[in-house]
Amino acid sequence: MNKTAKSVWNNCLIFIKDNISEQAFTTWFEPIEAVKLENNALSIQVPSKFFYEWLEEHYVKLLKVSLTRELGNNARLVYMIKMENNPGKRKPFTERIPSSQRAKVSSQEVDVPVKNKNPELKNPFVIPGIRNIKIDSQLNHKYSFENFLEGDSNRLARSAGVAVANKPGGTSFNPLLIFGGVGLGKTHLAHAIGVEIKEKHPDKTVLYISAEKFTQQYIDSVKKNNRNDFIHFYQIIDVLIVDDIQLLSGKSGTQDVFFHIFNHLHQNGKQVILTSDKAPVDMQDIEQRLLSRFKWGLSAELQNPDYDTRVSIIRNKLYQDGVEMPEKIIEFLGNNIKTNIRELEGAIISLIAHSSFNKSEITIDLAQKIVKNYVKNTKREVSIEYIQKVVSDYFQMDVETLQSKTRKRHIVQARQIAMYFSKKLTKASLASIGSQIGKRDHSTVLHACKTVDNLSSTDKQFRKYVEDLNKKLTQ
Ligand code: ADP
Ligand code: MG
Repeated sequence: MNKTAKSVWNNCLIFIKDNISEQAFTTWFEPIEAVKLENNALSIQVPSKFFYEWLEEHYVKLLKVSLTRELGNNARLVYMIKMENNPGKRKPFTERIPSSQRAKVSSQEVDVPVKNKNPELKNPFVIPGIRNIKIDSQLNHKYSFENFLEGDSNRLARSAGVAVANKPGGTSFNPLLIFGGVGLGKTHLAHAIGVEIKEKHPDKTVLYISAEKFTQQYIDSVKKNNRNDFIHFYQIIDVLIVDDIQLLSGKSGTQDVFFHIFNHLHQNGKQVILTSDKAPVDMQDIEQRLLSRFKWGLSAELQNPDYDTRVSIIRNKLYQDGVEMPEKIIEFLGNNIKTNIRELEGAIISLIAHSSFNKSEITIDLAQKIVKNYVKNTKREVSIEYIQKVVSDYFQMDVETLQSKTRKRHIVQARQIAMYFSKKLTKASLASIGSQIGKRDHSTVLHACKTVDNLSSTDKQFRKYVEDLNKKLTQ
């Protein structure tokens, strides 16, 4: 039987299918068409340059083995890339030529260079226009530079953001990675940059997307077999903003595809803006090659705002909402909510709501109550400092007394209870608990924990202390 391109390729596919997952096969091999067999060279047509690069990177060995089985040791593979017309380099085993240079092609198969033809973009963000494709940037115009107040804690990130907005892709801040803890303004700043770019450079295509949504879209595209549309879509963006990239950790497929999109954009002078809740060095389960890309540009941290910045943020928020609040209360809030601007805003909003609902004035009492609920409710882990405070309040002593060297029975007991709860409610080691509670060593803490366990089961009064405190500390 004479060998044809199709028959050779079909046999290769049978072999390949046996050696990779079904999903990979559907994604990467089903879309391939065998076009020509000449001597020992099989030409296959792939949908895009990206596709070709992917095959080369991940499946070249498999392709080689399967083709050698069919055509012997001199087998060669030639890629033809649909929708592209720049010639490729020759490779020892594989070769890549744009299909527009093919000798004989039926009219149906003639490829139009990508610039003259809009690749079909099946993406939820695309609004088909009459002449151009319009992409909804997904930006939230509520977030601007104007209402992103400057302070020492955010100066670097903010000014880098301004620089990028003035010259997207044209600074060394590419990518610009903004990192910092929860509620410190990463999302706000990321949108502000995008909004500013849209204002200054209306012709640029800007897209804001959360890493979570990006992942979801990618998974959907694989399922629906339009992964290429997904990639093409992202490759035509001028300014890509991806929020919370730490969420890509452990998702190797998504990381892979993001890596390729990133490279394409970066090589073409497009701007990439990323946010993360961790510094690149602390990111886990993110591929090294991707991490190293993140470090190409600038990583700028958003730190906890200092007192003055907190107070300006409160004032600004009140001004925007048209609400007045006594100075004392603004200071109180600024002094008590330190590590999360979102919480700060939440407390202001609930203060306003309480006072207007009860038609009462905003008093310091109300503020205290709200801050207490607010800060406690959103706290993830109680601190050893907080435990000592609650325990010494409960036994009506101050923290210094609790930590002192005295052997007075009720003070020793309070200290032991504080150690017990520190072990129970925090992740701190025995040694670290000991050093924070009156500079004791780890064996003292261990002894304290055992004593509290014992006394709780033998002494009714003592058990009540522990139960009360447990409620206070965990409610
Ligand atoms: P993150 O994404 O870091 O968790 P967000 O960007 O969602 O934080 O910010 C939380 C809230 O704090 C938002 O409402 C944001 O507008 C506000 N915020 C953060 N930083 C500032 C700032 N410098 N000035 C004014 N508001 C800020
Ligand atoms: Mg955010």
